[in-house]
Amino acid sequence: MVARELGSNWDQFLEYVKKNCSVTAFQNWLAPVKVLKDDEDGVQLEVPNIFVQDYLLSNYNKELCSFLPVKSDNDPAIEFIVKEPAKVPVVRKLNLLSDTPVHTEPEYQMRLNDFYTFDNYIEGPSNQFAKSAAMGVARRPSKSYNPLFLHGGVGLGKTHLLHGIGHYILEHHKKIRVQCITTESFINDLVDSLRNKSVDKMKRFYRSLDVLLIDDIQFLQNRLNFEEEFCNTFESLINQNKQIVITSDKPPSQLKLSERLVARMEWGLVAHVGIPELETRVAILQYKAEQKGLSLSSKVAFFIAEHIYSNVRQLEGVVNKLSAHCRLLNQEVTEDLVERAISQMLQNSTQEKISVEQILKSVAAVFQVKVSDLRGNARTKGIVLPRQVAMYLAKEMINESLMMLATSFGKTHSTILHACKNIESKVGNDNILKRQIDMARRNVNI
Ligand code: ADP
Ligand code: MG
Repeated sequence: MVARELGSNWDQFLEYVKKNCSVTAFQNWLAPVKVLKDDEDGVQLEVPNIFVQDYLLSNYNKELCSFLPVKSDNDPAIEFIVKEPAKVPVVRKLNLLSDTPVHTEPEYQMRLNDFYTFDNYIEGPSNQFAKSAAMGVARRPSKSYNPLFLHGGVGLGKTHLLHGIGHYILEHHKKIRVQCITTESFINDLVDSLRNKSVDKMKRFYRSLDVLLIDDIQFLQNRLNFEEEFCNTFESLINQNKQIVITSDKPPSQLKLSERLVARMEWGLVAHVGIPELETRVAILQYKAEQKGLSLSSKVAFFIAEHIYSNVRQLEGVVNKLSAHCRLLNQEVTEDLVERAISQMLQNSTQEKISVEQILKSVAAVFQVKVSDLRGNARTKGIVLPRQVAMYLAKEMINESLMMLATSFGKTHSTILHACKNIESKVGNDNILKRQIDMARRNVNI
């Protein structure tokens, strides 16, 4: 056969992929695959874990079909064998002596927004139930509702409540091990730990928690194998009677997740966070204004609340805008000023000029790092990538010269160019990175 003479099916496939993907993607996903058998009936591949199998099938199905024999159902004829994990000696290598890259990031760090406490959360009929449930869980973890599932639209305070639980527990139950994480970072941690061959460590970490707070579970949809790992962690915690709180933009039944996971999530208490009523919106506005040192008459507050109703983040946006305006021009907040600010905001909300700061904030939220770190010069792996993503998005979303962008970042224009090139070369082969960038891009506009 000609193919035999040219090299095995798998080698040809590898050669093709090597030319068409980044070195990192190749090293992470393809190099670890071992061929056990390769003939005209198909190939037998040993993969280090199920994620590599998933990666191959979801990213290279077409190519695999063209290089390898195909089965009657049009799938490539591959038999995957997941490698048994090797027994790792208990003695840990000293990082200094190890030639593998050292994980310099503080691992599985928890970042709670300082402002997102129960005290700063304004209650009203639309969110009272969710807030009481969250407080119940915070006061008596594992003893009230488990899991607690909070769902509702964008910008209505789900993350705020979740962090509220975290703050409360840190303050009142010092011995309880709590972790608050976004679904996106759970997946990142998992991918990282696969790369660093530290999955067991990660599993141990998550399974040793007393309380797991997990934000935006909707991002687990369509992530087959990650869902499985999450489900295992979830079950292991629930079975040990550990507390889990989940937030989502939809109720469990509307999530495209396995029946098993949906059923588990519905097991405890499902609480809806609704759109705040007019009075609550006014209260929120007045509270936020007060904190900014801005005085809002109740007439003006009602006026704003009547125009902006579906999203608390937008209410905050108006307060911030007015406060900046007043400080700048030293003006009182008149109805006229408010009217202009609101109409500008409503009309231009999509075309509004995006700032580097907005992009940094959004990227920081998605990658769970600090804006100050993104602005800084640290070269740690966990910071460099998000920093480059921020530069990449800034170039894409802000209509300014590279020089101007570079000034806003406090960097040189060649740094920005280099960052953009690097991200461009990665994004085509790295679905996770692509999703993170999409998420950050979407978040910028909220
Ligand atoms: P979600 O996670 O539901 O999209 P967030 O929790 O991020 O929303 O809330 C968006 C913003 O609105 C945050 O700054 C939050 O502090 C604020 N916010 C939302 N609801 C309230 C509330 N009831 N009281 C005070 N601030 C609120
Ligand atoms: Mg949120």
